[in-house]
Amino acid sequence: MAELDVRNPATGEVVGHVPVTTADEVARAVDQLRAHQPAWEALGADGRKEWLLKLQDWLIDNTEELAAVLQSETAKPRVDALIDPAFAIDLLGYYARRAAKFLTDEHPSPHSPLARAKKLTVTYRPYPVVGVITPWNFPLAMPAIDIFPALAAGAAVILKPSEVTPLSAVELARGWAEIGAPPVFTVVTGAGETGAAVVEHADYVQFTGSTGTGRKIGTICAEKLKPYSLELGGKDPAIVLADADLDRAAHGIAYGGMFNAGQVCISVERVYVEAPVYDEFVEKLTAAVAALRQGADGRESKNDVGALANEAQLRIVERHVDEAVAAGARVTTGGKRTGVGTFFAPTVLVDVDHSMACVAEETFGPTLPVMKVADEAEAIALANDSRYGLSASVWTGDKARGERVARQLNAGAVNINDVFANLFNFAMPMGGWGESGVGARWGGAAGVRKYCRAQAITAPALPTMAKELIWFPYDMNKLVFALAAMRAAGARGRRRFDLPRVWRLKGN
Ligand code: ADP
Repeated sequence: MAELDVRNPATGEVVGHVPVTTADEVARAVDQLRAHQPAWEALGADGRKEWLLKLQDWLIDNTEELAAVLQSETAKPRVDALIDPAFAIDLLGYYARRAAKFLTDEHPSPHSPLARAKKLTVTYRPYPVVGVITPWNFPLAMPAIDIFPALAAGAAVILKPSEVTPLSAVELARGWAEIGAPPVFTVVTGAGETGAAVVEHADYVQFTGSTGTGRKIGTICAEKLKPYSLELGGKDPAIVLADADLDRAAHGIAYGGMFNAGQVCISVERVYVEAPVYDEFVEKLTAAVAALRQGADGRESKNDVGALANEAQLRIVERHVDEAVAAGARVTTGGKRTGVGTFFAPTVLVDVDHSMACVAEETFGPTLPVMKVADEAEAIALANDSRYGLSASVWTGDKARGERVARQLNAGAVNINDVFANLFNFAMPMGGWGESGVGARWGGAAGVRKYCRAQAITAPALPTMAKELIWFPYDMNKLVFALAAMRAAGARGRRRFDLPRVWRLKGN
């Protein structure tokens, strides 16, 4: 059986192995999930809640071990490694407890008095098997954010984690088995081919990863008429207006750009600063970034920024910085790889523009290119000059101004005087615009309903007759009567009661 080595990127040491699940094995795993899913659905949201809360208990009780596994495959700082399980626990509680309410049948009011002859019901029935494919930047939280709502919805889930960081996902599957939950959650490991088999066999595909792979998956799903949702790349702008609290803006943007060494789809990747405060802001941002401690943590927290996930990622960051410098950009701090392992120093770049890859392409690394703008309008125009539209931030002392700017940005989320805040609010949808994605996750009820097919059921609300008015045999008198009633209910002004016109349809 083929195996994949999993390595710690800080040391290169092999920390584990996982099997490469073949396409046939994926097909069999999906068949098994499909067999067990009806019983999971039949448990109802309240029955599923019990299992999901047991998993939440398990995640809390095993946080230390999970963080250690996660650190071994990512070389994340200790604090970051603990954020993954904490986030998963918070989200699990929300969807476990709210799913029953979110999935309750709805009885919409009929659109016209005539339609009151029917009782209307909308019911939410899960897709049998949801395939979730995840990247390497948050090995536990990334799967969690989509798996938990899908399970809460009553679907079975097959997860294909990144081949770079599969160990945390394997732990999650261990937890599911250890609590004795029904076999409706399976992890398959491997690279793109295993992912492709998941796309082939699942009934709904939830993908998070690069825009290139997302496009391929979307194309295949479209051909198969299979529903999908994609959360892809980003090049999130931060706009610093002259009335902002510059200390908060500098620290917030340093965090937003450097958290997880910048390997976050919603990390700050470019900064636009109004001219009057540009110099002061650059000084403060440079100081905040230069003060970051970088290195590999053990069980104690010593560092703020860890390594990049692999050599390929480091080479992209290096290229973006080197090309910018060659084209006239200036590094105010950082700018190069450091030590052994895949560490790249937290970097601030100035004198950059939109012709440079560091501003135009997704870097997914610890770089913050900063540009001076004349005013708010130029900041908005430049922020919107991107094929991506995941999220953005606006920094200002005037909340109304912040909202006004936010509403002009082409992004799925905008945080005013903060970064990532939308990510910690599951009641809000998280989705990308433009090439940053299709569909959205969460958004309260929408987060579970997306994994369901809405079914419309009508039933007579009044005693029924042998025939409805419009059934065969056709009869112009009955039609005219029905039309007159429809117009009376749905048209406006004199047309509501314009019986002669209706009458003429009979040929009178
Ligand atoms: P990265 O993880 O480097 O951002 P990808 O977008 O390629 O890049 O990877 C995200 C996830 O998609 C990973 O789990 C990867 O194995 C998976 N994947 C890669 N290629 C395919 C494919 N053709 N079909 C399905 N999944 C894929």
